[in-house]
Amino acid sequence: MSTESAYIPRQKCFERDGRTDLKAFDRAGLEAWFIEQGDKRFRGHQVFKWLWQRGLDNFDEMTNIPKQTRTWLAEKATITWLKSAGVQHSKDGTRKYLWECHDGSHIESVYIPDEDHPGKARRTLCISSQVGCAMACTFCLTGDLGLKRNLSPSEIANQVLQVAQDLGPEKPITNIVMMGMGEPLHNLDGIIFAIRTMLDDDGLNLSHRKITVSTVGLVPAMKKLQSALPVNIAVSLNASSEEQRLQVMPITRKYSLDELIQTCKDLPLPKAKRITFEYVMMAGFNDSMEDAARLIGLMRGVKSKINLIPYNENPARDIKRPSAERVKDFQHYLVSRGVHCSVRVTRGKDISAACGQLGKASKEEAVPLSA
Ligand code: SF4
Repeated sequence: MSTESAYIPRQKCFERDGRTDLKAFDRAGLEAWFIEQGDKRFRGHQVFKWLWQRGLDNFDEMTNIPKQTRTWLAEKATITWLKSAGVQHSKDGTRKYLWECHDGSHIESVYIPDEDHPGKARRTLCISSQVGCAMACTFCLTGDLGLKRNLSPSEIANQVLQVAQDLGPEKPITNIVMMGMGEPLHNLDGIIFAIRTMLDDDGLNLSHRKITVSTVGLVPAMKKLQSALPVNIAVSLNASSEEQRLQVMPITRKYSLDELIQTCKDLPLPKAKRITFEYVMMAGFNDSMEDAARLIGLMRGVKSKINLIPYNENPARDIKRPSAERVKDFQHYLVSRGVHCSVRVTRGKDISAACGQLGKASKEEAVPLSA
């Protein structure tokens, strides 16, 4: 086990129109804020439940909170929401939600249902952590936007609450993946507070086994996240050598492939956990059997599984998707040599909700949330 002490981010107070954004606090933060206001800790706990379990949008309906407390809350605090800018429905059941933030910027969340296994439905929500992204991975359309800003913890967790409300209680979200717009670990504190709310029994009540945070490999932040929360980590790898990775992922200049792999080896993972390595396959670039052989070498000593993602072609990039046969051969090469490897099925292609396509949606393409 690591001897490093756990990373404890400092709780920040977020304001909206001069009032405190209550949803930006995790439960402990909200309780502490209530004490600072001269009220009781347990009132903070009660309000936290109303916000996340009941999804209330006003203080008047918080019936176990005294009228006097509700009055000062209405003066000093606010309950924030993302404004729906529409939702697109794919033929395959995938839904892409477009949200407008308070400053007019837009973000997206993608709901990916898998109801094929009765009693074991998997309903995954892919959420955003930033407006735009600074990482500039060459194959990714979101990267073209550049980074506009970090999302607040409330903007991150609200994506989960608001999609859950849209789906209704019969279709609870089972899995969260932070693979939408942005590099989550570039907004480390923001995602930690949002995830705490997601994990809280009195919050969104999700399991840490069902939450996955993706990263391009921000090495120091990976260590901090792992020490702060027991969630799953996915590394966006996309290359089998340093030179190759430098061509598509500029972050490699800062944290080399060697350093990234060594960090993955050193992370104190719980017994049953493996790091997922996402590998976007681009025809003629990283899909040869030499690449597969190098990948095996890289994975030696890492508790890993590889997720192959055949590239989703789009007019903005001259990158081709490998043939289905090539992807199968690549996977077979890895699996037959003892590497855990799966191929991600492309979902939501007809609504540009597939991997690497977020951030290009227009409001004209979307329909109102209730449609
Ligand atoms: S792949 Fe992820 S980290 Fe890279 S530019 Fe796109 S959103 Fe950012």
